[in-house]
Amino acid sequence: MTYAIISDIHANLEALQTALEIIDEQHIDEIICLGDIVGYGASPNECVELVRSHCPIVVLGNHDAAAIEPALANGFNVIARKAIQWTAAQLTDSNRAFLSSLPLTVRKEDILFVHASPDRPGEWSYIVDPADAREVIGYFDERLCFIGHTHIPGIFSRLGRVKTVDRFDQYLVNVGSVGQPRDGNPMLAFGIFDAAAWEYCLIRSNYDIETASGKIYAAGLPEELGIRLMCGM
Ligand code: ZN
Repeated sequence: MTYAIISDIHANLEALQTALEIIDEQHIDEIICLGDIVGYGASPNECVELVRSHCPIVVLGNHDAAAIEPALANGFNVIARKAIQWTAAQLTDSNRAFLSSLPLTVRKEDILFVHASPDRPGEWSYIVDPADAREVIGYFDERLCFIGHTHIPGIFSRLGRVKTVDRFDQYLVNVGSVGQPRDGNPMLAFGIFDAAAWEYCLIRSNYDIETASGKIYAAGLPEELGIRLMCGM
């Protein structure tokens, strides 16, 4: 099986459409979504609908959870909270029901899929550096765990940050963010994993950032959310 693993779309329709076009040109068997479909961007319903029609496996992200239960956004910063309130008001009943149905984790073919962290998936902790990764690698039995949440792509083993995965160790792979990259590179990011060859690669691509940020301004969402797309922060 070959998987495309997308995460942190954050209601950025232009980025999601471009990612799906790239995926369509590859030989991908299954698209897996690691959550945070909504929050920040201006197209929550369109993005949820595309994920529903393209992704047989979807796990819950913290912004998805907060969009259906706004009290969960109390710990968010002001801008994220405003965006969640706006998002909650936009979501259709059907899309809200879909988000409510999502699991925190899915296991398949010796791979664990989770939005934030495999040790306490509902607490949304951040795995940023090799020390964070080392702490949680013991919490899963699978050989691979795919995560998102920080919006920063990277691969970790117990030894630290590494360049690739192999069959001989356990790895934690952050696929980055489709809709709001934060590694200083504004290009959308997602991962492709070939389970037969046990090979992973990170995909980066330009997309129509101007349209995505223009929609954020037009929706009356905080301006910072449009500006940050331009610089990938
Ligand atoms: Zn996110």
